[in-house]
Amino acid sequence: MANLFDLTGRRALITGSSRGIGRELARGLAQHGASVVVHGRDAGTLDHVRKDIAARTGADVAAITFDVTDADQVDAAIDRLERDGGPIDILVNNAGIQRRAFFPDFELDDWHDLVATNLTSAFLVGRRVSRGMVERGAGKIINIGSVQSQLGRANIAPYAATKGGIAMLTKGMCADLGPRGIQVNALAPGYFATELTRALVDDVDFSRWVSERTPAGRWGRTEELVGTLVYLASGASDFVNGQVIYVDGGMTAVV
Ligand code: NDP
Repeated sequence: MANLFDLTGRRALITGSSRGIGRELARGLAQHGASVVVHGRDAGTLDHVRKDIAARTGADVAAITFDVTDADQVDAAIDRLERDGGPIDILVNNAGIQRRAFFPDFELDDWHDLVATNLTSAFLVGRRVSRGMVERGAGKIINIGSVQSQLGRANIAPYAATKGGIAMLTKGMCADLGPRGIQVNALAPGYFATELTRALVDDVDFSRWVSERTPAGRWGRTEELVGTLVYLASGASDFVNGQVIYVDGGMTAVV
């Protein structure tokens, strides 16, 4: 049974893995046998992350920089990755941002940034990487959603729109790519302490609300996302497609 989850010989690209959830997901895939490509926009930071994951896991780790909102950069970077290192078997569309404001005051530029970084990115990187997967008749794509893929919340309506979009993009990609031997699923985290949520973690009242609202009674730890990711990236999930799997301590199960 252990072999079901083995990622030896697979190559994974994790967008937005310079820190936070993406960095932990990259480390987790490496620990389970995959060679990984870490990604972000700053080469210096990524070099540090690359060396750290390689030292801790013994895996083959490469790094690449590109802006996930720029179609030309995305296509050129994936061309380079495939030319230099071979096929990408696993894609994790994780890069994302948060912006908060009362809805009537939300700036249009912030709306555009959120849509571009959280949703258009998954379209652009997924579109380019899926071409090689279609040729090979195999591949795993995991889009990172959120509890906001399903639930609204004050001050983050545009973010929720992007994460709801991720859920439907996942289903649409499943419809196109499933017949070609590719599985596309979404992993939707609850509340995890990272740079993106720093303002919330620092807010004592909000932190208390998270603990009370979550049946598990606490914030998530980023390493707790790895098990579900490895499942979705491995042969263990070969007949699982188009699903949104919540790893949220039960938050979306209760009111
Ligand atoms: P962080 O802010 O800690 O990390 C975001 C990552 O995205 C960084 O690696 C950053 O790279 C990258 N990134 C942002 N914009 C771009 C861009 N234009 N081009 C390339 N890379 C970019 O966020 P988290 O780890 O908290 O979140 C990761 C994902 O998980 C997001 O999709 C988020 O919505 C989702 N999520 C997070 C939750 C949480 O509780 N933290 C809960 C639910 C979902 P760079 O070094 O270039 O800045």
